[in-house]
Amino acid sequence: MKVLLAGGAGYIGSHTAVQLLRAGHEVVIVDDFSNSSPEAIRRVEELGGKKVVSYEADVKDKEKVRQIFRENDIDCVIHFAGLKAVGESVRLPLKYYRNNIDTTLTLLECMEEAGCTRFVFSSSATVYGEENDPPYVETMKRGSCSNPYGWTKVMMEEILEDAAKANPKLTVILLRYFNPIGAHESGRIGEDPQGIPNNLMPYIAQVAVGRRDHLTVFGGDYPTPDGTCLRDYIHVMDLADGHVKAVEYAENHRGVEIFNLGTGTPYSVLDIIKAFESATGVKVKYEIGPRRAGDLPKFWADSAKAQKVLGWKTKRSLEDMCRDTWKWQKNNPMGYGK
Ligand code: NAD
Ligand code: UDP
Repeated sequence: MKVLLAGGAGYIGSHTAVQLLRAGHEVVIVDDFSNSSPEAIRRVEELGGKKVVSYEADVKDKEKVRQIFRENDIDCVIHFAGLKAVGESVRLPLKYYRNNIDTTLTLLECMEEAGCTRFVFSSSATVYGEENDPPYVETMKRGSCSNPYGWTKVMMEEILEDAAKANPKLTVILLRYFNPIGAHESGRIGEDPQGIPNNLMPYIAQVAVGRRDHLTVFGGDYPTPDGTCLRDYIHVMDLADGHVKAVEYAENHRGVEIFNLGTGTPYSVLDIIKAFESATGVKVKYEIGPRRAGDLPKFWADSAKAQKVLGWKTKRSLEDMCRDTWKWQKNNPMGYGK
């Protein structure tokens, strides 16, 4: 299939692009590089062993997206092109609603014009909200979010479900990611956050490589075994494989399907620090600080549906996640900037 990756130069998109190429699909990328680098696409081509058609454009620009559909016979769209910094979304809610929702509407409208009927969406475990108890199952009702970023995901899921209801030819796959970490095993592509990392693993990696002095663990008094939050960390390459399965499933199915992409195993923040130290032999200086507003104490996936329906299962361990993160960070201390 020919797959359009909106936001395909980013962290999850670039790893997915490699796995799609290796599975024999063709890849077209559109990205405005607001949170990524064209160098990522060059490395995707190197790892995937094939050329990628790429466009530097804003996915909100309907004329440009139309042109991409005119120039390429797209079978399926994967929409990664979202802004994702939770704290920034609280400060700049309109920017988040505008970008995340407008990109989704633009893609849907251009798909309709072009007769493209398959849409895979980067959703998040955040849509379960605080009302649901883990493990999260796809049949649970969406909950309420503590920030505009999360609400954009809830709203986009609803928009996509409505679009599929109105157009029986449309296939929509909502992939609810848990906590993606790690990097391609080559260490050539990985997560390259701009500025101070918001997420745990890139922060740990930057402390380990000497770019930051120490990690602050957000809260040590949660009702969990060691007092720090529990999350379901998933290797980004397993996540990428989940996208390949979803695209292939979308080829033969109609309607909306939701899949959790997680391992089903929760780890605490302190577990992650220890695992990183033991996988890499590098010490991570940390101190316990106050809780971060909006963090839930614990959540993880029930991933039985993705196993049963997509035939997808995670293969990589926490040790793999730490080792591969470190390989990427050590070989590229300044990310794609060096
Ligand atoms: P990322 O920032 O690395 O990738 C997103 C890409 O989209 C970037 O390359 C950015 O330049 C591009 N982009 C953003 N807005 C654009 C626009 N208007 N036009 C063109 N390009 C645009 O983020 P990621 O971690 O790869 O996440 C991909 C998707 O998965 C996002 O929608 C994110 O919300 C979702 N998600 C991520 C996580 C996570 O922990 N990384 C968890 C759950 C869901
Ligand atoms: N975390 C932390 N220090 C950091 C970043 C994150 O202690 O500098 C914790 C955070 O409180 C949460 C876990 O690490 O318990 C994962 O956070 P992340 O932001 O990576 O993902 P989230 O689960 O919030 O989407």
